[in-house]
Amino acid sequence: MHIKEPIDSLKGIGPKTALLFGKLKVYTIEDLLKLYPRNYLSYEEPVDVREAEIGKRVTIKASIQSYVDIKKVRSLTLVTCTVKDGTGSVKLVWYNSPFLKQVFHIGQTFIFVGTIVIRNHQLVMEHPEYYTVKQYETLISSLQPVYPLTEGLSNKIVTKAVNSALHLVGEIEERMPKELIEKFSLMPFGEALTGTHFPESMEQLTECRNRLVFEEFFWFLVHMRMVREKTVKARNQFPFTNWTETEKFIEGLPFILTKGQKKALEEIRADLSGSTVMNRLVQGDVGSGKTVVAQAALLAAVKNGYQAAFMAPTEVLAMQHFEGVSKDLEAFGVKTALLCGSTRLSEKRKIYEALARGEIDVLIGTHALIQEKVIYRNIALVITDEQHRFGVRQRMALSRKGEEPHVLVMSATPIPRTLAIIMYGDLDISVIKDMPASRKPIKNCVVGPKYRPTAYKFMLEQIKEGHQIYIICPMVEASENVEAENVAEYRESLLDIFPEKVVISCLHGKMTPDEKNGIMTEFGAGKIDILVSTTVIEVGINNPNATVMMIENAEKFGLAQLHQLRGRVGRGDSQSYCIMICSSEKKEAAERLNILNTSNDGFYIANEDLKLRGPGDFFGVRQSGDMLFHLGDIYNHADILKQANDAVAYLEKEKYPLEKLVEDDSVYSIQL
Ligand code: ADP
Ligand code: MG
Repeated sequence: MHIKEPIDSLKGIGPKTALLFGKLKVYTIEDLLKLYPRNYLSYEEPVDVREAEIGKRVTIKASIQSYVDIKKVRSLTLVTCTVKDGTGSVKLVWYNSPFLKQVFHIGQTFIFVGTIVIRNHQLVMEHPEYYTVKQYETLISSLQPVYPLTEGLSNKIVTKAVNSALHLVGEIEERMPKELIEKFSLMPFGEALTGTHFPESMEQLTECRNRLVFEEFFWFLVHMRMVREKTVKARNQFPFTNWTETEKFIEGLPFILTKGQKKALEEIRADLSGSTVMNRLVQGDVGSGKTVVAQAALLAAVKNGYQAAFMAPTEVLAMQHFEGVSKDLEAFGVKTALLCGSTRLSEKRKIYEALARGEIDVLIGTHALIQEKVIYRNIALVITDEQHRFGVRQRMALSRKGEEPHVLVMSATPIPRTLAIIMYGDLDISVIKDMPASRKPIKNCVVGPKYRPTAYKFMLEQIKEGHQIYIICPMVEASENVEAENVAEYRESLLDIFPEKVVISCLHGKMTPDEKNGIMTEFGAGKIDILVSTTVIEVGINNPNATVMMIENAEKFGLAQLHQLRGRVGRGDSQSYCIMICSSEKKEAAERLNILNTSNDGFYIANEDLKLRGPGDFFGVRQSGDMLFHLGDIYNHADILKQANDAVAYLEKEKYPLEKLVEDDSVYSIQL
């Protein structure tokens, strides 16, 4: 059996299940094998009830002490019973599972796995998993994979499918050159894959995952080398000579550029006027003012008679840029258009035509900008914002679009210099270190849930002053559905707390791009006072009038991500505030969050966060967000990144033909 075969060639997977897998972007056996567990459950030896840690997943071995009680509470059926071991008793609670009455009988002993909480001075375990003592013996000390799921597709089905795929495929071919495997003593790829899905121990899991991370980084770096090969020496076919209007634009701004902004612009200008094509990264912390730099470059392109494209990772951000560029460059006669995945087909066709005829100067949008059908008349500059969401592959596709356009990449990812050189090896780097002078640093606090009422009062005062608020909702990994529900519920709960005239809306990933854009436009126009949102607002959104951000369950986020999030406030001249609600009792959680309390510097934060987490700490939140990798995280796996970089350098030194490696397009499409 070959890994390229469709998923329904596996026994037990029919067309219906295959469709569900499709929702997870799993179409072939290979895709399935790359659907890595997002977590693992371990089944430990039972502990004494007295010793069980509160708030953590534990296993107890206890006997049924009371009859199973069934109660109706509103639409819920509540099933409860009490169990005890020699050291204490626990009340078990299940919802909507009346059949349990037939399962548990007084005196019988079971194993229960779940989280114990204290409620009304009583130990309570909600919805525990239950096993007979015999069943549990077979599970013990194994790690069970927990897969990303979608409605209708259970973990059991996915686990079974992966298991049978691994068996059927048998030996999996090595993709890296053999000599590397030997030189770097790498474990066989297939073994690493099996061990990542079904590890026998934590140590083995770490080893296997690290091997896969190495593989990911390796292919990324090989492709980057190829891009560099292609672009570094490329001749500048679109020289810029006219800068008058751009200078006028800068003079006309309502503020003075910071030193960093000026320097970045000078470097860009030198590139664009030079003899080789520009490939530049502008790196600057959130709020450092990268957009205006991009706008100046776009204007320069247009005034030199060229077209330009401005690409963003989300439609919401693309729309914001579209509005910004349209407004700010209108006076200079720049004609803009917005092209996103959700743009209507008839509209798209019009845009394609106008673009080909040169009637559009600047095209703004999402990935849609680089699709095959988009043909430019003379594109000379491509800018991507928050580029870490774009892969090398997209950049390659882009540079294939025009002859060889200049590429400018804007990123707020605070990445240490040593890593930046590896990750962005194909780019020159400009760093904007300073913040606009008028900016007041955000005031931060880390507080417990009890502080909420005070926070709401404070928000109301800010709203009365005409400001706006973001509330980031508790993060639930489970699914988008649950997230949407959470956000909606949270909003409901606020309706009772705030006066009626306060307008509260929600934003979450389940919404259509149109809905999201609608909400963001209203929020931008000041028509919404409080926006309850998931992290969809994380990237790039600019509303200088928003002054408060409250983040629920802040302990569940990575520090770098929190820093990005709070960068949504403090973008205007008013004092802004970030309230982080820490719902964990653990001392370390608050300590970690306190780093954000003491610094507003993204670089410092990323470094401190890294120090706090051990290598291979892959259950934590991924710092680099959606970077490019399935498993790899440039922060957590910095060492592996360096090693993979050494591996590629070694191949280059040995004059190994790298382009041969990427010839096989299938590998290419998979690895990035
Ligand atoms: P980011 O670097 O996060 O993309 P933006 O470009 O969105 O930041 O800028 C954030 C805000 O700062 C915007 O409202 C922008 O108009 C403003 N801004 C940019 N540069 C300056 C400056 N030199 N002085 C004052 N405000 C500025
Ligand atoms: Mg930005």
